[in-house]
Amino acid sequence: MNSIRFQNYTLSTEIIRSLSSLKYYEPTEVQKKVIPVALEKNDLLVKSQTGSGKTAAFSIPICELVDWEENKPQALILTPTRELAVQVTEELMNIGRYKRIKANAIYGKQSYARQKLELKQKNHVVVGTPGRVLDHIQKGTLPLERIDYLVIDEADEMLNMGFIDQVEAIINELPTDRVTMLFSATLPADIENLSQKYMKDPVHIEIKATGLTTEKIDHYVIEVTEGNKFAVLKDLTIVENPDSCIIFCSTQDEVDELYKQLKRSNYRCDKIHGGMTQEDRFSVMNEFKKGKFRYLVATNVAARGIDIENITHVMNYDVPLEKESYVHRTGRTGRAGKTGKAFTLLRPCEQKDLQEIEDYIGFNIKKRRIPSLEEVAKMQVAFERKNKQQPTVKKDKSADLNKGIMKLYFNGGKKKKIRAVDFVGTISKIPGITPDDIGVITIQETASFVDILNGKGPIVLKAMKSKTIKGKLLKVHQAKE
Ligand code: AMP
Repeated sequence: MNSIRFQNYTLSTEIIRSLSSLKYYEPTEVQKKVIPVALEKNDLLVKSQTGSGKTAAFSIPICELVDWEENKPQALILTPTRELAVQVTEELMNIGRYKRIKANAIYGKQSYARQKLELKQKNHVVVGTPGRVLDHIQKGTLPLERIDYLVIDEADEMLNMGFIDQVEAIINELPTDRVTMLFSATLPADIENLSQKYMKDPVHIEIKATGLTTEKIDHYVIEVTEGNKFAVLKDLTIVENPDSCIIFCSTQDEVDELYKQLKRSNYRCDKIHGGMTQEDRFSVMNEFKKGKFRYLVATNVAARGIDIENITHVMNYDVPLEKESYVHRTGRTGRAGKTGKAFTLLRPCEQKDLQEIEDYIGFNIKKRRIPSLEEVAKMQVAFERKNKQQPTVKKDKSADLNKGIMKLYFNGGKKKKIRAVDFVGTISKIPGITPDDIGVITIQETASFVDILNGKGPIVLKAMKSKTIKGKLLKVHQAKE
């Protein structure tokens, strides 16, 4: 049994409090191994699959170790995809909520100028994709001199996506006196080389417990032909009647096409692939996370690292081109103690690819027959009923943490020489308010934003209408975002 709790580590009360709000009561396997070593500031090489809680494994020690007073970034986290960068940033902000940790995501296809402005402000942690991070470094807009911690997340995926040279170029710009943590699901030779070149006696950690793919997922393969593939998929959705399902295709065109076909058949579905704008990608992912629709048609952009609770089914509309993708795609289900099902539709020409996947995962995937007419007929009514129902919107895991937070806007910032301490000083003098009630403070050129925690926002809002900051009466209202 797992009897270690987060209280066993030397973590501050602010961090423990956020963890309990997130309902993280006991560390996962990877967290148990990583947190104590990271808190001792050792380099780490961690082989661990996604879904194991590895984001929190590095986020907890980083939030604990960074110095709140320092304005320049102290930790840099590199991720292969933009979605993952945002997800890691959210995890850091959640865990660091009560310590007022500010994390900032920077990635391609987002306004460079806006990122430049954000990077000028106080940031404890910067999370980003390699290309854009390197861009900022080369233009001098990302200060590196205080970086004490570097995390390379999903290192093998960085390699697959051809980012390794950029990662190396970034490492070469960083202070050498730093802690480096590398996380990867697999450790190919290039990753081992990278670690030998840039890490100091890293502690090796391997999370073996569940093998490549977790026992929580039931895997099935269904033999189809090009001609009956779509009909089989539809029948399968009827007999399985999933609450939440990702259907993977290999290419953007296939995603577009299947999405159109499903829409025509009145499925509540949406799609995601790399050809869509970043705003659309985020918005689709958010809606899917909230459970606003049940079927997401996706390319591999949704396969890696992305954490969505309670995905009950993954369907491979075609066999993934790389065996590793099979593990990542199917790993979207069966997470955080839940069970899941993974179906792969197999055309005769894909038999060899299946063999490769089976060799890789180390077991044979069960064959399942095409759903029979009777099975489909039996489930048709239930399927249609569910399809007509508006799905219940899922509660965000940080909902408890965010409950009682009000963001206040003030119409003054750097230009008026206002600093975070000025807000803390004034606000904590309001009767009934302590510094613990003040969250992240963001000071921009002409405006500032202050998070007020613990449901005390209305008191502060009312009081600040007549109180001055550095002798100036600022306009204040609840921020719109
Ligand atoms: P990751 O491997 O970082 O993508 O995390 C997988 C999932 O586990 C995420 O939904 C996390 O919110 C969740 N998680 C991480 N650590 C814990 C913990 N100690 N207790 C419960 N859930 C956790």
